[in-house]
Amino acid sequence: MGARAPQRLPELGRDPNREYRLGIMGGTFDPIHYGHLVTAEQAREALDLDLVLFMPAGSPAFKDDSFVTSAEDRYAMTVLATAANADFIASRFEIDRAGTTYTVDTLRALRAHYPDNVHLYFVTGADAIHDIVSWHDAKHIATLATLIAATRPGYDINQSCQRVEESGIAFDVRYIEIPALAISSTNIRDRVAHGKSVRYLTSESVIGYIRKNGLYRDPVSRSQAEPGE
Ligand code: ATP
Ligand code: MG
Repeated sequence: MGARAPQRLPELGRDPNREYRLGIMGGTFDPIHYGHLVTAEQAREALDLDLVLFMPAGSPAFKDDSFVTSAEDRYAMTVLATAANADFIASRFEIDRAGTTYTVDTLRALRAHYPDNVHLYFVTGADAIHDIVSWHDAKHIATLATLIAATRPGYDINQSCQRVEESGIAFDVRYIEIPALAISSTNIRDRVAHGKSVRYLTSESVIGYIRKNGLYRDPVSRSQAEPGE
């Protein structure tokens, strides 16, 4: 079998007389769940995004010493979960890049790829928005994309946003309130490891994939999976 051709980014920005809005939903997606999907869908609607790229992190920056499910499995589940939505695209962009995944590098590469009439929107939950000021080259992230900060149960969005404000970094942040889904990948992994049901926490297709491939059966200790900085 020959080497696989790199996946192409979706075409966007062709008409110079209009503005395009590209959403980027980053995460470890170990596994992807309805919290991610609802967040992306409501962000798409609220900010009138043309497309949302779901980008599983390749080699998460914070997780060099912990076990994370293979990028191919996480990507496959992302494909399955997003397949029915024409505005969602599962992207291999980060998993095909060697080494540590930094959001700033991804945004820089997307910025270089697309013409100026394509605006980038980075979608984050309240926990990620809290952390973003300490991510690698956060200052540069602020110049590359607008942040969409979504509410998430268990995390105080006001506190997160205050932290961003106090950082002095000029982030352009849009807040959105989304239906509260207290779902996390950590909880899904724990439930699978303990033989509990994960129905209605993520799509049937993802649950089928988890079962078929025997993912998360082993309750080994894993560190919290956070998206690459
Ligand atoms: P883990 O428990 O492994 O950390 P997770 O459920 O937090 O997984 P991630 O892949 O870490 O999922 O998160 C990716 C992005 O999705 C982050 O910006 C996070 O804030 C957001 N997110 C995840 N779950 C939810 C949810 N239930 N509601 C709103 N946003 C969410
Ligand atoms: Mg997380």
